[in-house]
Amino acid sequence: MALTGVEIFKLLPKTNCKKCGFLTCLAFAMKLAQRQASLDLCPDVSEEAKQKLGEASAPPVRPIIFGAGDRSVKMGEETVLFRHDKRFVNPSVFALEIKDTFSEADINSKIEEVLNSEIDRVGQKLRIDAVAIINESNDVRRFEAASKIIAIKAPDIPVIICTANPQAAEAAVKLFTDKKPIIYGVNSENTEAMVNIAKTYKATLGVAAKSLDELSVLTEKVKAAGVADIVIDSGARNAKEIIEHNTLVRRAAIRKNFKPLGYPVITFAQREDSLVEVLITVIGVAKYSSIIVLSSIEKWKNLALFTLRQNLYTDPQVPMQVEQKVYKFGEPKSNSPLLITTNFSLTYFIVSGEVENSKVPSYLAVMDCEGLSVLTAWAAGKFTAARIAQFIKESGIENDINDRELVIPGYVAILSGAIEDKLEGWKVTVGPREANAIPAFLKSRMASKK
Ligand code: SF4
Repeated sequence: MALTGVEIFKLLPKTNCKKCGFLTCLAFAMKLAQRQASLDLCPDVSEEAKQKLGEASAPPVRPIIFGAGDRSVKMGEETVLFRHDKRFVNPSVFALEIKDTFSEADINSKIEEVLNSEIDRVGQKLRIDAVAIINESNDVRRFEAASKIIAIKAPDIPVIICTANPQAAEAAVKLFTDKKPIIYGVNSENTEAMVNIAKTYKATLGVAAKSLDELSVLTEKVKAAGVADIVIDSGARNAKEIIEHNTLVRRAAIRKNFKPLGYPVITFAQREDSLVEVLITVIGVAKYSSIIVLSSIEKWKNLALFTLRQNLYTDPQVPMQVEQKVYKFGEPKSNSPLLITTNFSLTYFIVSGEVENSKVPSYLAVMDCEGLSVLTAWAAGKFTAARIAQFIKESGIENDINDRELVIPGYVAILSGAIEDKLEGWKVTVGPREANAIPAFLKSRMASKK
């Protein structure tokens, strides 16, 4: 049962020392009750209190590491039903299914697709995270052979071993020792055997139920048998069931602290029609699926799904930002143009993309405006003449260029006179309002200088 803020308060030191970052122990207790703070923040909490609070203050959705090394991903640890309440924490994992009935060539080409799926979007690397090996053949040797190809060709990719046959599960999981794989396929008949395999090979178990009721019974059984890392499937397959079941699971975990459903959810979205598969996956990303298994990963599909996932799993209260500095494009010289913009990620990537498109070697000064776009930063008093002048002076760019000319965004043309007043010896040129006009602007500027 969840403890109330007052019950938690009674277990804290009550010294109001503020070491936890909150003004009082009561304020900290209230945050703990809402699961918006971690007990570790209080250095003086007693062992007895830790024990009592441990379970109550644990994240309502169990955090689980899937895979090992650089490509491992974290799942669960969510604390809210709605993103705007705080934030969604660990992005949905996308896994590509590979059936053991595929030919070796097909398995290899699927792995290649996963390995080549990475794209860079607004400074983040996005990719297909995992593969789900499906025991379609029901044959242990065939499943083992397909798993072996994957283990050799892509040893770092996290794998989900999908089979209800404990023999097949063991044959495959041996190939991924110490890689924290998931064995998916635990049901009421094979629980004991699957638990033993998971314990031996330190794997996470995926519970495959046919209903929510069966799901909570199975997770309790698995947990009681000694496996704590569990991912759950209620059997939901169509859009309506996925929304209903996933919402009930998340509500039960967060609002009721119902531990039997406090685990990351796995959703199987495979469809013959790729567009339908995307729509099912969109539902999963928006509504609480921690892993989504796909049948194909065409580039258009990845781009749409990566974008959605990235947008839902950013902190709505913290704009995405890039580092403040002067970036170089091409090999700029002392007479190359110098442009300025703000450090909102999207602004930076759109402007830098157009500077690159121009093929004119240039400098781009990106100023820290707390992640706000040009007009917003200007309106908020963060992209002002005084601050721009100070940033340009401190950046050291004056040592690299002879032409003391600064190109400012067209939207803040109003600042040009004030910047010239504050940046002695500099000329301020008003650039285009829209980024897509930058290539033509830079080319004509270079042509006029020849
Ligand atoms: S650090 Fe602990 S004792 Fe100090 S105010 Fe926070 S909860 Fe209270």
